[in-house]
Order: sequence, then C-alpha cells, then structure tokens
Amino acid sequence: MEVAGLTVRLDQALIVDGVDLRVAEGEWVTVIGPNGAGKSTALRAIGGLLPFGGTVRWHGRAVDELPRRERAKAVATVLQSPVVPPAMRVFDYVLLGRTPYIPALGRESAADLAAADEALAALDLVPFSGRRLDTLSGGEKQRVFLARALAQGAGIVLLDEPTSALDIGHQQEVLELIDRLRVERGLTVLATMHDLTTAGEYADRMVLLAGGRVVAAGSPAEVLTEANLAEHYRVKVRIIPGDHGPLVVAVRQ
Ligand code: ADP
Ligand code: MG
Repeated sequence: MEVAGLTVRLDQALIVDGVDLRVAEGEWVTVIGPNGAGKSTALRAIGGLLPFGGTVRWHGRAVDELPRRERAKAVATVLQSPVVPPAMRVFDYVLLGRTPYIPALGRESAADLAAADEALAALDLVPFSGRRLDTLSGGEKQRVFLARALAQGAGIVLLDEPTSALDIGHQQEVLELIDRLRVERGLTVLATMHDLTTAGEYADRMVLLAGGRVVAAGSPAEVLTEANLAEHYRVKVRIIPGDHGPLVVAVRQ
C-alpha cells in the first residue's frame, strides 16, 4: 500500500497535511501520535471512507478509481467504535463482512457462511455466535469487529486503536491473533495505537504523526526515543531495551 501526499480537510481545517507512507505486503506498520494528531482521520481516508487529496494505492491501484465492491474485497477497516445494530446477532454481523461478495438481491452462498464460521472460530467466538451484540462486553465486541473484518477476506486491514477497549490480557490476545493472521495469510496491517510500548512490540515499522504531519518514521527503536516523545507528547520517558521493541516508561519530570 502506497500513500503519497495525503491531505484531508474537515470543515476547512487541514487535519492531515501531506502524509507519505508505504506498507509492504505482510508488513505491520503502526501510526502513533498525540491526541488530535490526525491518526484516525488519516486511517479513514486511506480506507477510502473520507475524501482526500494526494494518492492512495493498494496493490498499485488508486483507491478512488476502484468500484466500491472491489475496495471492500481489498481492504477491511475497523474503526474505533463502530455503530452496531444492538439487536443483531453476532453471526449475522460477521456475515455482513461478506456483503461485497453477495450479488444485489442475491443470498449468501455456502462459501460466505463458511467464511463467517471460520472468522468466528479464529477469534474464539463460536460460543457467542447466537448472542445479541448488546449483550457482549467491550472486549468481546472488539473481537466481533475483527471477525467481521476477517470474514471480509481482504488482504489489507486498517485498525484504529484495536485494543483500546481491552484489558491487558485481551490486548495481548488480540494482537497476537492479528500477528498470527499476518504471518499465516500474509495480511498487511496498518494500525493506530495509543500504548507506545505495545505499539513497538508488534510493529515492523512505526510512523509518528503530529499536527497532521509525519515527524518521525522507521523501526520502533528509531521512532520511540526520549527526544521524539519529549518533543511531540511533552512527556518525560525512560526507554528500556526490550526483546521485540523498546519499552517506554513515563517518569516524573
Ligand atoms: P487522532 O485520531 O490522532 O486523535 P483525529 O484524526 O481523530 O485525531 O482528529 C484530528 C483533529 O481533527 C482533531 O483536532 C479533531 O478535533 C479534528 N476534527 C475531527 N473531526 C473534525 C471536523 N468534522 N471538523 C473539524 N475538525 C475535526
Ligand atoms: Mg483517533
């Protein structure tokens, strides 16, 4: 996926200002940045959910030139708090991920039902299949959103703070699962994340966004430095080398 000169204006305000980034097939790139940096806005534009300036190409094709169905087959976007019909059952919600494959006025095929079953199994949601969405906990719901994205069968997934509603155990479970899918199926992952240590543990590369611009990019060790975080988050941190990425600990000024 290639993003060049991405700009997004919301109500005249320039929220994303000339962002360039590339994510190779099977790579995991995580965007970090302080509140209001433009992470969610950039992700929505890259997912084709907002009008933008610049170019966004998936597999070499410009997103704004792809028909809607082709977009949905290529890219699945999981927003931070999707609005869901409360009375809908988990299985039916996950099956919505198959919409791009179902002909207008047609019915879902056996392959669509199988894809929904498989996604439920991958996220340990089989026992929840018949439950109403409004009876799930935050963490269970988050897994259902991921299951829907998985059922969509897209090679690129865009995840906006996929673990912010989860406790530390479920955070790890969900991130490990995404990573397993990345390795097994060659999924390409672009995520935004809040927790810097966790972000660094899972990303191949990171992008630090501030004021709608890329202010640092590279490996977690290159981006998660005391100087970068002091400048852009106004925080004092200590960086401790970890097994997968730097561990970031905030310390008193
Ligand atoms: P992040 O995800 O990095 O916290 P967002 O992309 O959600 O940031 O928001 C970036 C900035 O855009 C924020 O300052 C927010 O207030 C502003 N913003 C969001 N929506 C609108 C809008 N409709 N009109 C004007 N500004 C907006
Ligand atoms: Mg956000």
